[in-house]
Amino acid sequence: MSKIDFEVELAAAVRAVRDAARVCQSVQSNLVTAATLEKKDRSPVTVADFASQALVCSSLLEHSRIHAVVGEEDAAELREAGAEATRDRVVEHVRNVRGASISPDQALDWIDVGGVTPDGSLERYWTLDPIDGTKGFLRGEQYAIALGLIEHGRVVAGVLGCPNLPGPDGQPGCLLSAVRGQGAQARPLAGKADAGTRTIRVSDITTTAAARFCESVESGHSDQDQSAQIAADLGITEEPVRVDSQAKYAIVAQGEAQIYLRLPTRKDYQEKIWDHAAGLIVVEEAGGRITDVRGHDLDFGHGRTLANNSGVIGTNGPIHDAVLAAVARFVKLD
Ligand code: AMP
Ligand code: MG
Repeated sequence: MSKIDFEVELAAAVRAVRDAARVCQSVQSNLVTAATLEKKDRSPVTVADFASQALVCSSLLEHSRIHAVVGEEDAAELREAGAEATRDRVVEHVRNVRGASISPDQALDWIDVGGVTPDGSLERYWTLDPIDGTKGFLRGEQYAIALGLIEHGRVVAGVLGCPNLPGPDGQPGCLLSAVRGQGAQARPLAGKADAGTRTIRVSDITTTAAARFCESVESGHSDQDQSAQIAADLGITEEPVRVDSQAKYAIVAQGEAQIYLRLPTRKDYQEKIWDHAAGLIVVEEAGGRITDVRGHDLDFGHGRTLANNSGVIGTNGPIHDAVLAAVARFVKLD
């Protein structure tokens, strides 16, 4: 493939994430007011997840030159007998954005555009989490639509839509974006094109005692006992910022916290590429650093998972080595 125009690709990604966010926001706002919240009914997030993937993929087919998408979902389950009700709701949401003429088959085919499993021969692909942080989504809290572009196993661009994170205008809804070598930006999620865009930078602190750290709300996704020990060792006195989804990366990229900890809870878990691609490039381009718990770069060139890495450590940069040293004191790295 000839050279890629990253400006065009970033604009395509911004557009795709904004389309998907419309559906996610509408589903979440109905959810919070409805009884589903108490019933712990997961079906709304399932519907929004599929519709979000359909919208991102259809937008990329139209506006991007790269049509390989490694998404979290595929439509197999929606094509099964018995899934008609869910399928109809997904199609309805897709039609609300793309128009009433969209057929159910078209909507499912768009979802399946994201069913790619990359092998070594695919030099460039998008990776998508249509709703990252489904638990936060269901609680009415933070979640993200995360879209990253991988080239030769490295993230080269990314867009993170965070509907419940304040944007640069102070209103809820922040869209973060970055292209390798070109810095990172934040803009209002709901705005027009580039309106309200500002450059973002990580915090410039150089001592760990002044740091705040982010981690998952879910203790099953990151070891919170170890993070408490590491924080104490680093002289950190502030409580952890516990937030679902890659909104954590957005918070570090904007300088509101300085450390992201994702400490393995089990040996056999492999991090998914769509859970980190967009967040990683936004933080790195804002001046921060991302590695695994051993200090190795994250390697996005091994299929759907970060098979060569364990956990994730992110920082504003200057304190990274100190954080890694503390991690090594409390996390078993064999
Ligand atoms: P977070 O919102 O930071 O808790 O991350 C949500 C993501 O955690 C989901 O998209 C899952 O792919 C991922 N996940 C699921 N199980 C685990 C696990 N055992 N360790 C780390 N991440 C996980
Ligand atoms: Mg996810």
